[in-house]
Amino acid sequence: MEMTKLKSISKLNKWFDGLNEPLIIAGPCSAESEEQVMQTAKEIAALGKVKVFRSGIWKPRTRPGNFEGVGEEGLLWLQQVKKETGLLTTVEVANPEHVDLAIKYNIDILWIGARTTSNPFSIQELADHLKGYDKPVMVKNPINPDVNLWVGALERFHKAGINKLAAVHRGFYPFEATSLRNIPKWEVPIELKSICHNLPIICDPSHIAGNTEYIAEISQKALDLNMDGLMIETHYNPTVALSDMNQQLTPQQLGNLLDNLIFRTTSTKDEDFAGILDTLRNQIDSIDQQMLELLSQRMNIVEEIGKYKSKNEVTILQLRRWEKILSTRLKLGKSLGLSEDFVKNLLQLVHKESIQRQTEVMNKFTSSKNKE
Ligand code: PEP
Ligand code: MN
Repeated sequence: MEMTKLKSISKLNKWFDGLNEPLIIAGPCSAESEEQVMQTAKEIAALGKVKVFRSGIWKPRTRPGNFEGVGEEGLLWLQQVKKETGLLTTVEVANPEHVDLAIKYNIDILWIGARTTSNPFSIQELADHLKGYDKPVMVKNPINPDVNLWVGALERFHKAGINKLAAVHRGFYPFEATSLRNIPKWEVPIELKSICHNLPIICDPSHIAGNTEYIAEISQKALDLNMDGLMIETHYNPTVALSDMNQQLTPQQLGNLLDNLIFRTTSTKDEDFAGILDTLRNQIDSIDQQMLELLSQRMNIVEEIGKYKSKNEVTILQLRRWEKILSTRLKLGKSLGLSEDFVKNLLQLVHKESIQRQTEVMNKFTSSKNKE
């Protein structure tokens, strides 16, 4: 059952095909005033590279008392943005009332915040409420690096009949001090991609970085990992932003960033990548085959020695010989760039199997001797 659902999620098509690819989403962390929204949107639209305008209308704040968003009024400004610039619009929704309002004001895409994704009750409530609507939904990763919680949220929306889904990678809460606001843990979105092959994944470098300094580097990394888009917080004047002021770019900075990013075309990249990968994998296959053949030859010789030892009534374990093997191989391994731990573990494994083989040979030898 679970697996069937996962498979069907993995068959989802990129619903934003035909839009810019990768999909670029930009806009302020929060809508603050009509002027701030309109000015930012016009400057972003003028870049000609952004397709979707983002803006928080209801802000999930860690502590109460911080700016919690302008509410319904902001949705009117977003309608205006769409009318005047042609940009699509997206807002965060965290409860059914937000969904109703976003639908009432024709917001094009809904997104689910990291805190909401962390709670399956909230997700189920939102999914139930969205049944029957054909709204695209983008699901941010949960605060903790739990890929199943992320997949689970996507599944709940999918089960509710939502086919236009995307994931947004915004990093994970760091338990250790780091220069980034959230640690990217790239292996998590990569695992999500391997579970849901065709699910678009968009990177939000702004919330990973927490600071404008790192946004370019993180964006490039996301593109290099073949992510399907970027969501970048942009404000016409970040110095007066009411939330996340340190991580918002000006529209001009956004333009520079987009100009300097290397967008590799997916198809050639995929072909090159697949070709190179194939070659390297062929090499590994061939080396593995040789390695196993050599190990088999080694075991045959070990058995020969076992027979010989039995005949001459010598014990299996010859400590001095083993010590010599270890020291010479460790030296050789080191000169070949292999770590001491690895060579030691490998030799111990081989030695254990060799002793096992010799014991079998010797038991056979003794029992046949006893029969004589
Ligand atoms: C946001 O996008 O402004 C936001 C609150 O993000 P997140 O849910 O990733 O913290
Ligand atoms: Mn923000």
